This record gives sequence, C-alpha cells and structure tokens, in this order.
Amino acid sequence: MNASARPLRARIRLDAVRHNYRYAKRLAPAARALAVIKANGYGHGAVALARALADEADGFAVTSVEEALELRESGIRKPILLLEGVFAPGEIHLADRTNLAMVIHSRAQLDWVVAARPERPLECWIKVDSGMHRIGLAPEDFAAAYGVLGRCPHVARLLAMTHFARADEPAHPYTEHQIQVFERALEGIQIRRSLANSAAILAFPQAHGDWTRPGLMLYGASPLAEVSSRTSALRPAMTLESALISVRDLRAGDPIGYGGRFVCDRPMRVGVAAIGYADGYPRHARDGTPVAVNGRRARIIGRVSMDMITLDLTDMEEARLGDPVELWGETIPAEEVARSSDTIVYQLFTGVSRRVPLLYQDAG
Ligand SMILES: *Cc1c(COP(=O)(O)O)cnc(C)c1O
Repeated sequence: MNASARPLRARIRLDAVRHNYRYAKRLAPAARALAVIKANGYGHGAVALARALADEADGFAVTSVEEALELRESGIRKPILLLEGVFAPGEIHLADRTNLAMVIHSRAQLDWVVAARPERPLECWIKVDSGMHRIGLAPEDFAAAYGVLGRCPHVARLLAMTHFARADEPAHPYTEHQIQVFERALEGIQIRRSLANSAAILAFPQAHGDWTRPGLMLYGASPLAEVSSRTSALRPAMTLESALISVRDLRAGDPIGYGGRFVCDRPMRVGVAAIGYADGYPRHARDGTPVAVNGRRARIIGRVSMDMITLDLTDMEEARLGDPVELWGETIPAEEVARSSDTIVYQLFTGVSRRVPLLYQDAG
C-alpha cells in the first residue's frame, strides 16, 4: 500500500513493453531475442517486466547474479544471461544452481569456468571485443577460448557475442567494421551469434544473428540519435507524472528558485510541480525543457530543486492547483527531456529513484 499523498508516480504500461518486444522480434524474424532488463528493467521494475513477458520472451539478460536471483525467486523460469558474466569464481556455483547463462569476457572468467565443478553443464557466451574496447576477448583469442571451452566436459552450450559502440549512428561505418572484425574472429567456426542491441536491431539487419538483445526499445524510446519515439512504431512504457502544488503570479524582475537562474521578464504565472532531482529528474534540465500540464506543453523555468520544479504557466489561464503534470511519457518524449538536459534516455529511466512509486497498467 502506498500511503503517500505526494502526487508523483511513474505509470508503466506493460502492454506497451509487450508491443515493443514483439516489434523487436518482427524486425529480426529469424532471431530469438533476450529482453534486456538489467538495472531493474531500466527503472521500470524487472520483476513486473519479466512477468509481463514471461509467456513470449525467449529469455532475459541482466548484469549481475543478484539481479538474476531476484527474477528466479519471483518464479521466472526462462533463460537468463549474465551480461558481464560472474564477478568472482564463487558465483559460478550460484549460476549453476539457478540455471544462469554467463558471458565470458576475460581470461580470468575462462579459467574460473574451466576449474569449476558445476552440477549441470554451463552455457557460456564468449564475448569478443570487436572495437568497443571495454570488455571482451581480443578477436585473435576467440578461437583458442572456443577450443578450451569446447573441450570442457561441463560446458554444454557455447555462443559468440559482441557489442557495438556506435550503432545509434546508422550512417557511421564503425558498426560495419565491428561486424567484420567479429566475423573474421569466428571464421570457420560453427557457432550461434549475438550482436545487436536495440539500435542495431533497428538499423543493421545484417547484424541480427541468432540472438538479439533489445534493451532501450522495449521501453519505447528510440535508440537512434536521429529518430524520436514519436515517429517510430515504439510505444513509450513509462509516463512520469506529478501535479501542480502551487500556482502563483509573479512580477517582472522576480527571480525564480536557487541562484535566480530565471528572472521573470514580464508579469508571469508560475507553477510548481512535485518532482525534483531526488526523484531522478535531471538537475541539468535547461530553461525551456518541456513538460505537459493538463496535456498541454509548458516549459521549465529556473533550476531544478531536490523536490520541486518551476514551470511557466503564463499562457495557461486554466491551470489550477492539483492539475496533472507529465514529465515524460505519452505526451513528452523522454528523448526531448534528455536532449534538453545534456543526458540520454537511458540515464533518465534508470535514474528514477526509489521514492517514485511504480504503478502498473496492462491493457492486455
Ligand atoms: C545493455 C546491453 C544491451 C541493450 O542495449 P540497448 O541499447 O538498451 O538496446 C545489449 N547488450 C549488452 C551487452 C548490454 O550491456
């Protein structure tokens, strides 16, 4: 039960997430798709998402054993991949007991798997660094790792994966370069492949492989730099909404909020909405960042505070205390808020803080 009367909440449309997952599958019809629900499902609630997708997802991907165990303890039986593998050899035991597949991105992880004595054979996804230069085996080390794990009696299934650095820029040649580096590393080896994040699912069909890994697109935001979710077939899953807790008329010359960043340039009507950076709203939102009041676009003026933001309601005669304010979602694309705050949608979604109640809706 939520006893708070503070009007802030994030409505999550589970039917939108299912729609977006199906769309990802339609774009890559020959591939299976791991729904990436790391970081508490990009802030949307991993358990609720996994349940909403339980009947149709081919599997899930998360960052850590802790995230995976939360899903297993909630009754999720589908395949789960640990995207960074295990962080210590002791975790292999947990992965074994709860049936988790793991990425192998380093020599150390490979040695841990070889030395492990699991009760059931393990599934390993060998990660090749095709050019992101973050984690992954060097391309020239792939064949040897494949050989070692292939001879390991307690490794049952092997896949090869890689991750793109610039797939959100469809015109940039780097993704094609990464595909070629990956394919050269795998030359002559029959193995299932996984390359595509959301952006590559949308923009690089030649990288769909056998398993895709959609993350951001499940939540309805466009992963492509140039495309807004408005113009795509994706449906926003999260609508972050609050309400006006103050509406006042100020005079020309009155400064608003900390530091007086905004000064009224004429008599202005100013509203305050109950949300701030402690809720995950970006503190760097500039003057002019859009919000919707009663479904109509308005703009932020003045610095974002810990628990409040200030809005220009001068042209909204009808705005009243208690009126709904959407921060992002069905009316205001989260991409616009991100752009206006020098951040990315990923950070907005994962930054929604624990004090924001998640309210689930499912139209089936
Ligand atoms: C997070 C992640 C994804 C999903 O990326 P999106 O851009 O959200 O689609 C895919 N693969 C790996 C390895 C990841 O870490």
